[in-house]
Amino acid sequence: MKQYDAVVIGAGPGGYESAIELGRAGLKTLLIDKGKERIGGTCLNEGCISTKNYLQSAGYVSKANYFRECGVEVEIHGLNLERLREKTISLKNELRSGVVWLLENAKVETLYGTASFVDSNTVDVSGEKIHFEKCILATGAKSREISTLPLDGKRILSSREIFELKTLPKSMVIIGGGPIGCEFATFFAALGVDVTILARGTQLLSSEDEDISKTLLRAFKKSNIRVLTSATVENAKVMEEGVELQVGGETQENIVCELVLCAIGRDPYTEGLNLKNAGVELNTKGFIEVDGAFQTSKKHIYAVGDCIDTPAFAHTAYAEARIAAHNLIRGTSDTNTHINPSTIFTDPQIASCGLREKEAKEQGIDIDVKKAFFKVNAKAKINGDDAGFVKMIVSPQSDIILGASIIGVEATEVIHEMVIAVEKKLTASELRSMIHVHPSVSEIIRYL
Ligand SMILES: Cc1cc2nc3c(=O)[nH]c(=O)nc-3n(C[C@H](O)[C@H](O)[C@H](O)COP(=O)(O)OP(=O)(O)OC[C@H]3O[C@@H](n4cnc5c(N)ncnc54)[C@H](O)[C@@H]3O)c2cc1C
Repeated sequence: MKQYDAVVIGAGPGGYESAIELGRAGLKTLLIDKGKERIGGTCLNEGCISTKNYLQSAGYVSKANYFRECGVEVEIHGLNLERLREKTISLKNELRSGVVWLLENAKVETLYGTASFVDSNTVDVSGEKIHFEKCILATGAKSREISTLPLDGKRILSSREIFELKTLPKSMVIIGGGPIGCEFATFFAALGVDVTILARGTQLLSSEDEDISKTLLRAFKKSNIRVLTSATVENAKVMEEGVELQVGGETQENIVCELVLCAIGRDPYTEGLNLKNAGVELNTKGFIEVDGAFQTSKKHIYAVGDCIDTPAFAHTAYAEARIAAHNLIRGTSDTNTHINPSTIFTDPQIASCGLREKEAKEQGIDIDVKKAFFKVNAKAKINGDDAGFVKMIVSPQSDIILGASIIGVEATEVIHEMVIAVEKKLTASELRSMIHVHPSVSEIIRYL
């Protein structure tokens, strides 16, 4: 039987980052995933990279009018989805090669197949038994399905199958008003697809502040995206040429569309792992139970990323992977004390970190809210994109920045300054007094 110091299961951001850290520290490390093409996990194969490459291209199309106003003599006749798909595949292949190179450099071995625990120190991969001293689980998550509307890969798709499309549908209904649903709505509407979002909650993006959600809703209306809140799917009829949905809730109506994207959330993925054989426990929501140091109920087995109950972002998985790997190597119990930003790549983009206004209200925390609108920002105007605002949450007693939410141009970049400010407990006046480049989107800080 092959013996390893450490085995990592799952080659997404949480898995490959852990494996690289372990390999670099000199541990004999094995990284397991279902196939070589899975290296990079959801993030690389059907998550962050694919969606952002699609959105970037759609952004050029939706900015065409502004380019023309600036004298750029450009005629856009739409978007060739098949070509975008091919370009995205080649981009993913390049990025995957980069990860493979990093793994080889760290002397991490790889094995392809489904890993399943035999006992707490042995896994089986396609009949081959592997013995390990320590293990990190990073098996990710999978799309949640609606029982009355099972995914069929043809008319009812998840965010995974949507990347197989070679032509644009004329109309689609997106079930789910969360980040994934809103990002796909941005993409398809920019290309002229008739998009309707059915959101179960009373607002889009239920975890964001109301003013952020309302600003996005206004932008969506301008892009002809129809949003039905407090909406449920009562019944569905899948036909050869499309789907008929009977919508209940606040608005009762029947909608016929060519395609349905099911984006109602993601659940932790632990199928086939046989965690019981290892004595690793799940929490009531089905996530692998971990303590602050990412140790499971078996102390030599750690878990990170989307399979545990922490925010489902690739950057969160990277951070957890580094901490778990260091704990595994050194026997320490470090926890993740870093500020974890959240990002949504809609148009306009959204990003937040630290305390949100609504969380402060719910928790009875006394705060000052400082807000500045991109309408006064020269660089936003130069970019043809001056919608939205930056909101900073500040302690009235100490002036320390507790959190920030941004909706607007480059929000997913500008948020990094706020992450540093919140993590390093800077005061609002300290941040304002720092010299920001002019013209830049970040200089909006001057008005906060
Ligand atoms: C449409 C979409 C867009 C997203 N956009 C962003 C974004 O812009 N920014 C961001 O930060 N995050 C984004 N995310 C979330 C991000 O993709 C995840 O948070 C991230 O991939 C989690 O990494 P992970 O390592 O925990 O799991 P994953 O990346 O899901 O990797 C898990 C791997 O484990 C493997 N595996 C599972 N079980 C086994 C087994 N028994 N044996 C062997 N292998 C196994 C799987 O094959 C998979 O490759 C997006 C997600 C989606 C779906």
